[in-house]
Amino acid sequence: MKFQSTRKNCKSTSISSAILEGLAPDGGLYVPEKFPPHLGNITDESFSTFAFHALAPFFKGQVIEKQLEEICAKAFDFPLPLEFFQENAALLELFHGPTAAFKDFGARFLAFAMSAIIEAKDQRERTILVATSGDTGGAVASAFHKRPGIKVAILYPEGLVSPRQEKQLTCWGDNIVAFKVAGTFDDCQALVKEAFNNSQLREQFGLTSANSINLGRVLPQMAYHAFSSSKFKEERNLIPTLIIPTGNLGNAVGAFWAKRMGSPIANIVLATNANKALPVYFDSGKYKERKSVATLANAMDVGAPSNMERLLHLIPSLEELQKISASYSVSDEEISETISQFYREQELILCPHTAVAMKVWQEHYPTVPSILSATAHPAKFESIVEPLIGQQIPLPAVLQNLIAKNSTALAIAPHLEELISKL
Ligand SMILES: *Cc1c(COP(=O)(O)O)cnc(C)c1O
Repeated sequence: MKFQSTRKNCKSTSISSAILEGLAPDGGLYVPEKFPPHLGNITDESFSTFAFHALAPFFKGQVIEKQLEEICAKAFDFPLPLEFFQENAALLELFHGPTAAFKDFGARFLAFAMSAIIEAKDQRERTILVATSGDTGGAVASAFHKRPGIKVAILYPEGLVSPRQEKQLTCWGDNIVAFKVAGTFDDCQALVKEAFNNSQLREQFGLTSANSINLGRVLPQMAYHAFSSSKFKEERNLIPTLIIPTGNLGNAVGAFWAKRMGSPIANIVLATNANKALPVYFDSGKYKERKSVATLANAMDVGAPSNMERLLHLIPSLEELQKISASYSVSDEEISETISQFYREQELILCPHTAVAMKVWQEHYPTVPSILSATAHPAKFESIVEPLIGQQIPLPAVLQNLIAKNSTALAIAPHLEELISKL
């Protein structure tokens, strides 16, 4: 199986190279040239076994083909509950991994797969650079901690992430280095871009990326959408619509791929916060990158979704897209109301991102069989959620362990030379 760039200006490549490189040489994102005919629908398996069977065709003939089952077992060693909160509507709880957010699925699979590929292929050390405003960095650090052959440098804006988030970025040591940058998130991102655009540095440090453009993060997300929709169909004999809190569109592209491969998925609904690039595209057919605006669902504060290229590559026609998908925007006020209401009426505690999906379900799909992605544990956003529900949220054990660790971070100015000198 081969993978091509969305921009079609470079040669197709194997999945191993696509995972090691992150971004295609022409600046596009890797996508499958052709999809396998189906993803399987055997739901009496555990998720890790299901994921192994679903992903096996993608890795056929690759150096890590024989290790794939073990990689899936190690990466997905936590529960994936589908919790019905109404007769025909369920929350897919994606937050039971080590950093209590859905990004653990993609980051852990990528970490185990990348490390195994390096070991089997060239044994050359790689350095992952990540700019983070909070969530991504924690999931990547946790996943790559002590993985052989890989060093991780995390850049975060000093004073602009919450104390709990900072802890999750700085508590690792070993092969993980945290840089607190005297600047904003945009400065961190610009620094990472500058490093990647410097081909000599890229070569010297074996720079690569673990953000949501890496194919290795999208594939497991495809697998859990396939798994949960098959399970829903089996339990309710109905085909669910998926409602997905969306920022960079990584989670949602996984759902579009699962549907393309025949998983029982009706529609795919993209629920955004006040960042409206997607709803505007669905309304007007015009896709325009915007400046991001800050909201309560901050992991979705994205003005230009990085996986838009993959979506447009898969379904270039807006008319075709509208037949199976829609997008709605939710305001901060609605996020707050939804969190309060669901706690009051059902004792359900939602994180701000999950609340975005819940509001869209309530407003547009209340009688439609639905799976809503619950993307983070509410305890990660306690300063927003606790005042709304008038309760403390018990911290999950995984987060308690992280918070008990020591932290270290290197302070740097937002200049490439300083970053390089400390790498
Ligand atoms: C990253 C994130 C999202 C958005 O996912 P995308 O794949 O970027 O669309 C939603 N919720 C939470 C909690 C996240 O961390």
